[in-house]
Amino acid sequence: MSQVTGLSCVSCGKVHPPEGMTYVCAACGGNLDVVYDYATISRKLTRAALAAEDDFSAWRYWDLLPLEDRSHIMPLQIGWTPLYRAERLGRSLGLKKVFLKDDGRNPSASFKDRASSVAIAKALELGFKVIAGASTGNAASSTANLSASLGLSPTIFVPEAAPKAKIAQLLVFGARVFAVRGTYDEAFDLCTKACAEYGWYNRNTGLNPYTREGKKTVSFEICEQLGWEVPDTVLVPVGDGNIISGVWKGFQDLLRVGLTDRTPRLIAVQSEKSSAIVDAVNGDGRIRPVSATTVADSISVDLPRDGEAGVRAVRESGGSGVLVSDEDILRAIVTLARGAGVFAEPAGATAWAGLEKLARAGKISPDETVVFLVTGNGLKDVASAMKVAGAPIPMDPDLDAFKSYLDRQGA
Ligand SMILES: *Cc1c(COP(=O)(O)O)cnc(C)c1O
Ligand SMILES: [Zn+2]
Repeated sequence: MSQVTGLSCVSCGKVHPPEGMTYVCAACGGNLDVVYDYATISRKLTRAALAAEDDFSAWRYWDLLPLEDRSHIMPLQIGWTPLYRAERLGRSLGLKKVFLKDDGRNPSASFKDRASSVAIAKALELGFKVIAGASTGNAASSTANLSASLGLSPTIFVPEAAPKAKIAQLLVFGARVFAVRGTYDEAFDLCTKACAEYGWYNRNTGLNPYTREGKKTVSFEICEQLGWEVPDTVLVPVGDGNIISGVWKGFQDLLRVGLTDRTPRLIAVQSEKSSAIVDAVNGDGRIRPVSATTVADSISVDLPRDGEAGVRAVRESGGSGVLVSDEDILRAIVTLARGAGVFAEPAGATAWAGLEKLARAGKISPDETVVFLVTGNGLKDVASAMKVAGAPIPMDPDLDAFKSYLDRQGA
């Protein structure tokens, strides 16, 4: 039995009953946030209990998840991704304690598996036969991958311009894929209308209150992997704002059940070419849609679908927003690869680009503990990486030709 007591509106605060599937607030249309009986959970979920837990995946935090029984869990490794100390990268910015959370190591190679795992298990628990979702690519490939592990085929809506590798994932895993002639935002709206029309389960980011619940598990892992130290600063790449609102939820959950005694400041990092949430953070807090064109497709969003909760996460944490250029993002792919041995897709390298910018502006102190999220693997978008990775050296299959090349180089 889960300890969920209700779903509270992030906008007006109205609390809805937890039974069945409710997407948005009946009173105002706002997104919903799952509320738990933290007092009961805190009696069970202690540091000692976790130390004795031998499930090394996101499911080890079962008591803080909104699911009723374990029978719908997929047979794949979700979460418990490596938290690497990024020694050389940190030093390059004069920082002593920088850590990288490599969520490209999830089954579908992105952070989205945290959300899909919980959202899909919830759909099955509620008896839905058809699961649908719209995505810039990663939420979809994640939904397709985890569904396939359960013998299911979801219905997916992606913009036709999504990177090829992500579309390949969808097709390989046997999803029914609609390549929408339009933007992510248009695919999102079409999916939502189709779900309403046909009674399908809608996994859409933010609109589905359970995506945030899956995403929050990264914060549990960060603290536990740091030996229950809470970092000072966590940098998050932001599109819809659902990861950062989940990260904040996770740190708050830990505080509420007494596993930690403080929370970090959260830094939202966006591309200058998809800046809706950072604009709101730096402005009056209200979300205004932009016309997103960033190379980082996973964070290319006109109207953020969890924007209100995303902005609140940054503000309540005492954090800030930072914009980086697409050139910074592409260069960050190479810096991360050569400085830490981790290959990220553009959105996955964006938090590092933000950390570089803030550190160079003196906004990160040398002694603080900094964690940045790498949210997607670089093999998902090789075309973007090749813009900055350099080119191989053409060579005849002949030792003399090879020698004369090296001689010409003076090597
Ligand atoms: C989805 C995604 C993000 C951003 O998450 P939001 O919840 O949309 O803010 C960042 N990086 C990658 C690789 C993603 O797939
Ligand atoms: Zn409301």
